Amino acid sequence: MNPKLLFWVPVALRLALVLAGVGVLWWLFGVVPALAVAFLIMLSVAFVQLKYLSQLSGWLDDPQSGRLPDGWGEWTAVFSRLYRMRRDDEKNQAELTEWLARFRQAMHLLPDGVVIMDDVLFLEWCNPAAEAHLGLRQDRDKGMRVTNLIRSPEFMDYIILGRYDQPLTLSFRERKLIVHIIPFENRRQILVTHDVTETERTEMMRRDFIANASHELRTPLTVIVGFLEIAASEDLDYATRMAHLKLMTEQGHRMQHLIEDMLTLSRLESVDHPMRPEPIDVRTLMERVLRDARALSAGKHQITLEVDGPDIRGSADELHSAFGNLASNAVRYTPTGGNIRLSWGASAKGGAKFVVEDTGIGIDPEHISRLTERFYRVDKSRSRETQGTGLGLAIVKHVLLRHGGSLSIKSEAGKGSSFTVCLPAGG
Ligand code: ADP
Repeated sequence: MNPKLLFWVPVALRLALVLAGVGVLWWLFGVVPALAVAFLIMLSVAFVQLKYLSQLSGWLDDPQSGRLPDGWGEWTAVFSRLYRMRRDDEKNQAELTEWLARFRQAMHLLPDGVVIMDDVLFLEWCNPAAEAHLGLRQDRDKGMRVTNLIRSPEFMDYIILGRYDQPLTLSFRERKLIVHIIPFENRRQILVTHDVTETERTEMMRRDFIANASHELRTPLTVIVGFLEIAASEDLDYATRMAHLKLMTEQGHRMQHLIEDMLTLSRLESVDHPMRPEPIDVRTLMERVLRDARALSAGKHQITLEVDGPDIRGSADELHSAFGNLASNAVRYTPTGGNIRLSWGASAKGGAKFVVEDTGIGIDPEHISRLTERFYRVDKSRSRETQGTGLGLAIVKHVLLRHGGSLSIKSEAGKGSSFTVCLPAGG
């Protein structure tokens, strides 16, 4: 039924009832008693209305303070409607608070920075990622102009030009950030920052790797092409031809080593190639490493091996490649007559350790932290002369990473070096 009718029909009925009662009194007792009763009824109705009005006014002043009365007559409907409104309101409020909490949590976890600014770029709110990216502090910087907080000429120019359809690549506080500004309601603006420092670094490493690898391959290739051109244009005697062929073969081997090492590195880095641990027969592995080192040394060094340590689990091929690289470096960087000692033992942390010590040329301290970088060499010509690719220690580092191990290097120029590999118990 129509709500207005619902309100007026009982009112009209009650009024009619009162009027009829007063009419009957008039007819029975005359006008004065009837008017007196009517006046009393009016007075009590007015009193009831005023009482409910005062209760309503008190409740409106502080709706949380207490319950509304049940009311009488039309007041019952009014109070129950108000009560329902308050309940709905409380429910909405609770939902809103929950949504806000969820929104804040999401913003806290977001890896991208979000800064909300007003129409004149005053900071209103920012999330923790924005604090980290831009050096802001929500509590300290709220209400300050963002251009005074992000002090960078590139950022200033971006704001002045106002071409927000294009993102800005910003170098700020040793980070590389992609910055977007998005205008939204009430002329407010959102600034979003995305940290690409790591991606840029990987991209730079990739570019450097390609440049280095191309450079490394170009040198032997130039030598081979040079000899081939001579052979094609000149009639060489047998001895010269054989000498050229020997040099070309050497350069070919150099390219072969380089490509093999690059493939090994790429395999070790590939996520599609997980390490499959297997029990390792350490003694056999160590004897293989010793045999290879002696073959490379060709009797020029005294090489010894001691095996007295626990067995481990891991990839035998990968560990052979890592230990082989360390042993071959010792041979290649130790002058004839030097001593090389290979040893396998227990480590202090309950795992195993492999140590390669030599009495070779040693390394100056400033180079030590960079030795595992790809293509890093202390002395390029010596490395090349001994068939080095500059990738050996990078391979060692990757193998150890996959085995949860570590490499430490001690060396003194002119005296010798010691490379220690620590591997966890069980591999
Ligand atoms: P390379 O193929 O040039 O030997 P590595 O990555 O194996 O490349 O080693 C990097 C550099 O570390 C070498 O070029 C060399 O300068 C230095 N190095 C490695 N092992 C030794 C060692 N036992 N004694 C002296 N220098 C070493």
